[in-house]
Amino acid sequence: MDAREKKLLLLDSRYLRMTQIWAENSYCRRRQVGALLVKDKMIISDGYNGTPSGFENECEEDADHSKPYVLHAEANAITKVARSNNSSDGATLYVTTSPCMECSKLIIQAGIRRVVFGDYYRMHDGVDLLCRAGIEIVHLWERNGEYEHVEITSDNSESHYQEVAEYLAAQNK
Ligand SMILES: [Zn+2]
Repeated sequence: MDAREKKLLLLDSRYLRMTQIWAENSYCRRRQVGALLVKDKMIISDGYNGTPSGFENECEEDADHSKPYVLHAEANAITKVARSNNSSDGATLYVTTSPCMECSKLIIQAGIRRVVFGDYYRMHDGVDLLCRAGIEIVHLWERNGEYEHVEITSDNSESHYQEVAEYLAAQNK
């Protein structure tokens, strides 16, 4: 790893840790997700999963189901920037959990160029869509207490997802 890569890894890991703290704002009980949009070294938007403005602070219908109108962290960050004077065009999205299919569509249309995530969502179809759209997508994998960059491509998406699942299964033994 050269000095430039080291610096990028350090910066990415700091932003990702910020998204993990930001996720604590979410009142969802099943999973708390946080997101930040960064452009030209400025945080231009933020989001966490929750109901739309003005709705009750309650995400779950019952123990296993979220309400259908809950917005994901990425959707909240992208729609929030739409109400500001900033533009998400060319920005980097940091998110605690890999984007789902619905959010991936929004990410593509918002002109986001790079996505950095910490954990995998239960599916990786959103990640695959981002690969197809030519968006740089990085799994910032915290393994044995250290972060590493894993760039996801259409070629390694499935095998990396499996590798992570096996690693997590071994951790939980
Ligand atoms: Zn989503």
